[in-house]
Amino acid sequence: MGARSTAAKAGSETGAIEASDRSTVNVVKQTSNGTVETSGSRTSATWSIEKSEELYRITGWGEPYFSINAAGHVTVSPEGDRGGSLDLFELVNALKQRNLGLPLLIRFSDILEDRIERLNAAFAKAIARYNYPGVYRGVYPVKCNQQRHLVEALVKFGKPHQFGLEAGSKPELMIALATLKTPGALLICNGYKDREYIEMAILAQQLGQTPIIVLEQIEEVPLVIEAGRKLGIRPILGVRAKLSSKDVGHWGTSAGDRAKFGLTIPEILSTVEQLSAANMLDSLQLLHYHIGSQIASIAVVKTAIQEASQIYVELAKLGADMKYLDVGGGLGVDYDGSKTNFYASKNYNMQNYANDVIAEVKEACDERKLPVPTLISESGRAITSHQSVLVFDVLSTSEVPSGVPEPVQETEHLIIRNLYETYESITVENYQEAYHDATQFKAEALSLFNFGYVSLPERARAERLYWVCCEKILAIARQQEYVPDDLEDLEKIMASIYYINLSVFQSAPDTWAIDQLFPIMPIHRLDEEPTKRATLADLTCDSDGKIDQFIDLKDVKPVLELHSLKSEVRSQESEGAHSLITNNQQLTTAPHSHEPYYLGMFLVGTYQEIMGNLHNLFGDTNAVHIHLTPKGYEIEHVVKGDTMTEVLGYVQYDSEDLIESIRQQTELALREKRITLQDSQLLLQNYERSLSRYTYLSA
Ligand SMILES: *Cc1c(COP(=O)(O)O)cnc(C)c1O
Repeated sequence: MGARSTAAKAGSETGAIEASDRSTVNVVKQTSNGTVETSGSRTSATWSIEKSEELYRITGWGEPYFSINAAGHVTVSPEGDRGGSLDLFELVNALKQRNLGLPLLIRFSDILEDRIERLNAAFAKAIARYNYPGVYRGVYPVKCNQQRHLVEALVKFGKPHQFGLEAGSKPELMIALATLKTPGALLICNGYKDREYIEMAILAQQLGQTPIIVLEQIEEVPLVIEAGRKLGIRPILGVRAKLSSKDVGHWGTSAGDRAKFGLTIPEILSTVEQLSAANMLDSLQLLHYHIGSQIASIAVVKTAIQEASQIYVELAKLGADMKYLDVGGGLGVDYDGSKTNFYASKNYNMQNYANDVIAEVKEACDERKLPVPTLISESGRAITSHQSVLVFDVLSTSEVPSGVPEPVQETEHLIIRNLYETYESITVENYQEAYHDATQFKAEALSLFNFGYVSLPERARAERLYWVCCEKILAIARQQEYVPDDLEDLEKIMASIYYINLSVFQSAPDTWAIDQLFPIMPIHRLDEEPTKRATLADLTCDSDGKIDQFIDLKDVKPVLELHSLKSEVRSQESEGAHSLITNNQQLTTAPHSHEPYYLGMFLVGTYQEIMGNLHNLFGDTNAVHIHLTPKGYEIEHVVKGDTMTEVLGYVQYDSEDLIESIRQQTELALREKRITLQDSQLLLQNYERSLSRYTYLSA
C-alpha cells in the first residue's frame, strides 16, 4: 500500500522559481559561548569540506551528480559537469516555505535524462568499438518505479533512442500499453500471463506498437498459440531462459535451475517443438534472461552472457527466427562508492558492462556466422536510483552521559568510589582492563541496588560514572591501530540516537527487509566537524525501525558521524559537559527546540517507494519533481503525501464516523461536567485538523 495511489492526489503544479527568489539562509546564530556568528563562517580550524567529502564518500557514490559547495551544503548537478547545479539545502528551505514539509522526496528529472543518455551512450560506444553490426534498444522495467510522472518522463527522454518499456505484470502492462508511443520502441511483456494479458499484448501490434511476449512458463505456450490463431495475428515471442550461471550476491536468486522464473533447457526445446507444430516457429525471435539485481561482479555478467549467447545461436540453428537478445537487469549501482564486488557496490562501470555484453554476443555470432541480434537490456536500478533524494529532519537526540564527573566524596558508597577510581586511572596502557573493571563495577552496583544496599540516586551516579569511563576508554581506543575484540561494540554502545522524522518501512523498506545500504549524510553544516557518532531511530514504535549500518570503504560501519544539534535560542545555560553529568536524566533534547538539521538519503529512486508500507500508519511522503532552468529551477510536479484521512481510509476508517465518535464522547463528558466547553472544542478542533494533515511530525 505504499503507492502514491490516487490520481487526484497527483496535483500538478508548475511554478517557476528563479534563483534570485530563493530564500537567503544567512541566519544569525548564537554559539554556546554566547557570541554571535553567521552561518557562513563556521569552518573550524581542524575541519574542512574536503574532510566531509572523504568521510561521507560523496565522490564515490555521488559523482557526477552530488557534491559539496563552499557553504558546506550538498549541491546537485543533474547533468554532471555539463550543466548547472543547485544547492540542496536552499532548495529544501524554499520548498518548506511552499508548505511542502519534511520528509520530502525530491526527484530530479534531469538526472533521469542523464542516466538514459549515459546508458545509451555506453552501448553506442561499445557497438562502435567492437564493430557490432546491430543496434541497442533498451527498455525500462516499470517495476523499478511505476510513478506516472517518472514513467512518462522516461518515455519522453528515451524517445531519441527508441527506448521502450518492460512490464512484469498485468497492471504494469496496462501502464506500458497506454504510455509508450515511441515508434519502433519495444514493449517487453514479462511476468505471469493469462488469456486477457496475451490478447491485449498481441492486439497492441495493430496499434503500431512492438510488443514481444516473453514465455516464462511452459503453460503459456498453448495459450499464445491459441490466441494468435483466434486473432489471426502472428505474435512476436521470446523465451526466458533459466541460466545455470547465477549471481552469488545479495539479490541473486533469479537464476539457476530452481529459479522462480523462466524455462529450463528441456522446456525451451519443448516450446520450439510446440511452436513448430503450430507452424509458428518464425514467431520465436527473442531470448531473455535475468539473473538478479545489483550484480556486484563483472565476472558474473560475463559468464551469464556467454551461456545466453550459446543458447541464442542454438535456437537460431533450430530454425527460430532469432532477432533479439535481452540481457535483463542487474546493472549495479555503487551505493558505498567502494568500486568493489561488495554487495552494496560493483566492481565495474556502465561502459565495462556494455563492452562485455556486446563483445561476447558478437564473438558467439561470428563463430557461427550468424547475424547479430538487436541487443536489449532491462536496466532499472541503474536508471532510476540517482534521481531521488529523500530529505528528512532530526527531531531530537538521546545521548549517553559524557564529560567530567564530580569528584568523589569519602562518604560515598564503596562501589561509587571504585568506579571513580577506575575513571581516574584509565590510561593507554590499561584501557582494556579498565573497561572490564568498569563493566564489573556497574554490574555489582546493579545487584547491590536489587538487594537494597544502593539507593536510586546512588545507582544513577554509578551508571553515569560507568558511561564516562566508557567515553574515556573509547577516546583512547579510537587512537589505536588495533582494537581488542571485546571493545569493538563500544562504539555502538556509546552511539547517540538521532530520532528522525521518517518511517523506514515507508521510505526505505529495503534497509529493513534486506539490509540494503543507502548513502546517508547531512545536507548542510559540512564545513563543521561532525562530533557525534549516531544511529538513527525512526518514528515508528517498532524496534526494527532504525538504521544502524552505514556505508564505509571497507564493509559497513555501525555509526554515522553527525553534528550536534544547535539550540534555537540559548536560554538554558551552556551545554557544558559538567551540567550533563550533574543532571539526573540522560540528555534528550526536546523536539523542535533546535535549529533544523537535515539529513539526505541518496540513491533511493528504485524499488523503495512501491515496496514501502504503512507500518504505524505513516503514509507516503510529499514528493516534488525539480527541473533545472538556465535561471534556477522549476517545480514540475508536486505529489502531496498521504493525509491522515487517506491513510485511515486504507484501513477502512471513515473520517466522518471518527469525528462523530469523538463528538459524542465530548457531549457526554460535557453533560457530566468532566470537561469544559472550551477544552472539548480544543480537542475536537485538533482532531478534525489532524485528519487533513500529513502523517509525519511538523516542525
Ligand atoms: C527486476 C527486473 C529487472 C530490473 O533489474 P535491475 O537490477 O533493477 O536493473 C529487469 N528485468 C526483470 C525481468 C526483472 O525482474
